[in-house]
Parts: sequence; structure tokens; C-alpha cells
Amino acid sequence: MSKLGNETAKAELGRATWKLMHTMTLRYPENPTQDHRDALESYFYLTSRLYPCGECAAEFQQLLKKFPPQTSSRRAASLWLCSVHNEVNARLKKPAFDCANLDATYDCGCGDDNATSTSQASATG
Ligand code: FAD
Repeated sequence: MSKLGNETAKAELGRATWKLMHTMTLRYPENPTQDHRDALESYFYLTSRLYPCGECAAEFQQLLKKFPPQTSSRRAASLWLCSVHNEVNARLKKPAFDCANLDATYDCGCGDDNATSTSQASATG
């Protein structure tokens, strides 16, 4: 693939990954169990190890060392991820995102919170 093609593919992968991760933290429970907290923390550490773009994975690993995942609530997790994404934006000379706009930006169309609790309960049960 050409250099331009590589950059386009890397950017597409980045956009898709950020979208998934932000949407996930915004659907994360308001009052997570320890199991939820362990799962979300593992998710970020595993993503940082397995992320297909090597440069991005190394960057994410450094960020996780400096800013360990916040998993105590939906608000803590979503604001933490927003600020980590802003760290990446700063490194890439992209504008910072206003984290007050998270809820308006990431609507997954997945229904209400009760649906989330139900699917989580059935996934674990
Ligand atoms: P993106 O940064 O992909 O953001 C997509 C959309 O999310 C934006 O349009 C905006 O609506 C919203 N958004 C922006 N900032 C925030 C925020 N703080 N919180 C919530 N929403 C926000 N690329 C590299 O070239 N080098 C790297 O080292 C690198 N590291 C990466 C590490 C990770 C963990 C990930 C997931 C991606 C990384 N990328 C890296 C890709 C890079 O971050 C971008 O995804 C890519 O450059 C496309 O940028 P974009 O301008 O389309 O917006």
C-alpha cells in the first residue's frame, strides 16, 4: 500500500476505534460492579497491546502508564477516555475536543440504560 494509503487506513482504524471506545464508556454502568471495572480496565490494556498500528499501540501504552484507566463510574471512564484522546490529539496537532459534548456526540442508538443492564446481565449469566 502507498504511504498515503497507509495513512488513510490508519486514520480510518483510529476513527473506528475511538468511536467504539467512547461509545462503550458512555454506555458503561453509572455504578459498576468490580467485575465491570476489571473488564473495562482489561479492555484498554489488551487494546493497547493488540492494536494493529504499532506506533499507536506504543503511544497508547505510554498514556496508560501515565494516566491509568478510571473505571469507578460512567462519568469517570468517559471523561478519562476523552482526556486520553485529547492527549493523542495534541501529539498529532489536532484540536482538543470539549468533553462537555460527549453525550451529544456518542449516541449508539442502542436503546435505554435498562436494555444495557439486561444485556450485561444475560451476557454474564
Ligand atoms: P479522531 O481523532 O479519530 O476522532 C474521531 C472523532 O472523535 C472526531 O471527529 C471528533 O468528533 C471526536 N473526538 C475528537 N477528540 C475527541 C475526544 N477527546 N473525546 C471524544 N471524542 C473526540 N494516529 C497516528 O498517526 N499516530 C498515533 O500515534 C496514533 N495513536 C493512536 C492511539 C489510539 C489509541 C487510537 C485509537 C488512535 C491513534 N491514532 C494515531 C489515530 C488518530 O488518533 C486518529 O484516529 C486519526 O488520525 C483520525 O483522526 P480524525 O481527525 O479523523 O479524528
